[in-house]
Amino acid sequence: MDKFFLLGYPIHYSLSPKIYKELFRERKINATYELFPTKREELMKRIEDFLEDKTVRGFNLTQPLKEEILKLDVKLRGVAGEIHSVNSVKIQNKKLIGFNTDYAGFKKSLFDFKEEILQKNAALFGAGGAAKAVVKALIDTGVSNVFIINRTFKKAEKIKELFNGNVLPVPLEDAAQFVKKSKLIVNATTVGLKDDKTVIKPEWINKDMILYDLIYAKKTTFLKIGEEKAKYTKNGFDMLYFQCIENVNIWYGGKND
Ligand code: NAP
Repeated sequence: MDKFFLLGYPIHYSLSPKIYKELFRERKINATYELFPTKREELMKRIEDFLEDKTVRGFNLTQPLKEEILKLDVKLRGVAGEIHSVNSVKIQNKKLIGFNTDYAGFKKSLFDFKEEILQKNAALFGAGGAAKAVVKALIDTGVSNVFIINRTFKKAEKIKELFNGNVLPVPLEDAAQFVKKSKLIVNATTVGLKDDKTVIKPEWINKDMILYDLIYAKKTTFLKIGEEKAKYTKNGFDMLYFQCIENVNIWYGGKND
């Protein structure tokens, strides 16, 4: 039986095992998918063990490992090479092949309001692994500008370097001004996952805005504010689901970019 894992920390909230169980069943694939809590310092050992176990065919990475894995010998394919963020790995002949499926997952998840955000601004909170995929997906979808607002400003500046134009790093203290200029507000930070904190203030939000939180495990304060003040809200479930389908295609469909 083939084995797949999710590595990251914390991950106990993840719905991935349930989604993969269903996808493997539908496609008659004999495989398991398990959570394997892994901190930065444990990643190398975990992967060494995987490479010795022929039944491990691949794995996913979540916070804080999507960039950490780039320190290892991994061949990057497609978007992963462009944005330097890997959330999906295929093991082939004891070699690691790294993909980014957050990009496709997020892009596909925009289906219900794609037209509404065309040529409008988006404000994105966060500058980690997921944020990079979100920026690329928003630009490719046709958003005018992406304002990246992050606690560590340097990381927002680094993301700008990956893209030509359309991306503006914004210091945290200017967040209100740039959120108010945006149609779509995205939370790609971990804020709200373990507590009730949020990156926005209710008075920044108006009834034309769309609020999208990548967190799907709970109704965050970000989404509660959106339900009260915005046009509509979306959580990260569709993104995760589309991403899982893409991963199965990579692991079993011979998809290599
Ligand atoms: P990551 O690389 O670890 O990045 C975390 C981000 O959160 C960074 O921008 C970090 O800011 C910010 N942050 C953390 N604590 C903060 C705080 N107390 N105040 C302000 N900012 C804070 O994580 P990731 O992989 O990008 O994931 C980000 C979130 O997206 C997670 O909640 C993850 O579960 C979710 N996600 C969902 C999906 C899905 O399919 N739905 C896919 C991918 C990710 P600094 O740079 O200042 O540290």
